[in-house]
Amino acid sequence: MIKINTIRHSLSHILAYAVQELYPGTKFGIGPSMVRQAHQNGFYYDFALPKKTSTRKDSSVKQMGAGTEDLAKIEKKMRELIKKDVKFNKKVVSKKEGKKIFKNQPYKLELIKGLPENKIIIYQCGDFIDLCKGPHIKSTLQLHSGQAKEIIDAFKLTKIAGAYWKGDEKNPMLTRIYGVAFETKKELENYLRLQKEAEKRDHRVLGKKSELFLIDEEVGAGLPIWLPYGATLRKIIEDYLYKELTEQGYKWLFTPHIGNINLWKKSGHWNFYRENIYSPIKIDKEEYLLKPMNCPFHIKAYQSKIRSYKDLPIKFAELGTVYRYEKSGVLHGLTRVRGFTQDDAHIFCAPEQLSEELISILKYGLDILKTFGFKDYQIYLSTRPKKFMGSPKMWQKATNSLKYAFKKLGLKYQIDPGGGVFYGPKIDIKIKDSLGREWQCSTFQIDFNLPQAFNVSYIDKKGKKKEPIMIHRALLGSLERFIGVLLEHYAGALPLWLSPVQIWIIPIASRHEKYAKEVAKRFKIKDLRFKIKDENETVSKKIREGEMKKIPYLLVVGDKEIKNKSVRVRKIGKGDIGEVSVDRFIKKIKKEIESKK
Ligand SMILES: [Zn+2]
Ligand SMILES: [Zn+2]
Repeated sequence: MIKINTIRHSLSHILAYAVQELYPGTKFGIGPSMVRQAHQNGFYYDFALPKKTSTRKDSSVKQMGAGTEDLAKIEKKMRELIKKDVKFNKKVVSKKEGKKIFKNQPYKLELIKGLPENKIIIYQCGDFIDLCKGPHIKSTLQLHSGQAKEIIDAFKLTKIAGAYWKGDEKNPMLTRIYGVAFETKKELENYLRLQKEAEKRDHRVLGKKSELFLIDEEVGAGLPIWLPYGATLRKIIEDYLYKELTEQGYKWLFTPHIGNINLWKKSGHWNFYRENIYSPIKIDKEEYLLKPMNCPFHIKAYQSKIRSYKDLPIKFAELGTVYRYEKSGVLHGLTRVRGFTQDDAHIFCAPEQLSEELISILKYGLDILKTFGFKDYQIYLSTRPKKFMGSPKMWQKATNSLKYAFKKLGLKYQIDPGGGVFYGPKIDIKIKDSLGREWQCSTFQIDFNLPQAFNVSYIDKKGKKKEPIMIHRALLGSLERFIGVLLEHYAGALPLWLSPVQIWIIPIASRHEKYAKEVAKRFKIKDLRFKIKDENETVSKKIREGEMKKIPYLLVVGDKEIKNKSVRVRKIGKGDIGEVSVDRFIKKIKKEIESKK
């Protein structure tokens, strides 16, 4: 059995071989398979193609023309090479020999520098030599005969993009060619179909069409501006969270956007997460940070008075805006940004309350996700890493509490051994969207470190000072990311309760506008979100526009409707569903909003 990832990786060498044949003078970067990355089905290779290079972002794409024709050409070459039954031969050489072999390949020479003296492993396939440890297939014969015979028809080059050498913006920009490969042609077709569907659902496109948000280079990368409709959507979600969490006993906080650097030095974040934190700001000889997380502020709120065991658990919630550095290459619409608002909470509880609290936050958390339409998820439990704080016994106890909570709630989970953060075990919940894609949103972390570092305490039954356990939890994760996921999940057609605009009232002619306003007045009293479409355009054009913008209900009103005190209803995805009285329509729509479906 050849592993599919071995095949994918081997294809990256064939890709490079094909590029070498088609574009002599190419300098080669590296070409891993993408098992551990977001795009799990493929492989890529980075090239510095001949012709003059510049550091401009899109230059590498331009070098090869429009890109897609080149991909087809390279793909064709790859198939030719595969049919030639090219063998992969391994050789171990000294550093000196390695330098000779790759004398015209500056990136390979740079890699050799970091390798051990007499153990340079090279692979030759046909006329292409590469620096690589393998494993690979033995021969490309394996890609069109035997177990993996369909591979020759089950791979495809998908994309061409710029990528910095070693992912560092200070380095030259190379051309990265991506491909995907599957065991069967059918799997490839299925994948391409899903990709196409995903493209249609791209939240960046939907967000623009529905005027939800704006990302403007002049404002800054990864810093979205919420436009009125997007802000309305966000406010609906915030209000819902506010109501739910208040009912569950959370108390709300507002905390500053910047704070003294010493807070995060004390918490350990400055040490452990510095690469994600922006440079300090100097104010009166003191250094301040744009807050990367809200925790220290919540601890200060807890410490604002003496706490007794009777007060516990104390649950603080905040829609806290934080700022974290992300490389420009990974920024993506709303789902990867540099400034975002977490639906953050910190629960302070006595050690003996831990299990009960975990059960409660998990149960209510999953209920809330379900309300938004996410019924499928994967739960991951990350256990003690090599470097950790606290005693192994504490870790064991906390991990057991988590397992106990899962058992009580009948939840299935997977263990990620050693994947916990240094201060405690954690749970990640990845929600599955309507295309089956997993999105990391919720996280729950048990923390032994911060209560100790900040000397957090409560007075127990015997009047003694004790240390509480702290749970960090974000349910939706960040509002930005969650809304991006929501839009893709629903392909922009949000459920009625979330739709920023629920209804368009479309008068057929100007003489019907008065009636449209009367209907609107009734909607306003009932807190419905609507718009009267009285522009000078045809009804059919307005209907098309409303459908494109995914407005849930389009109501057409004319002579007949005025006479009957009614509206003619078009429902998204269903078309014309007939005429109903205004009274009945309001009743029906209010019910639909309340059901949150
Ligand atoms: Zn290799
Ligand atoms: Zn926290």
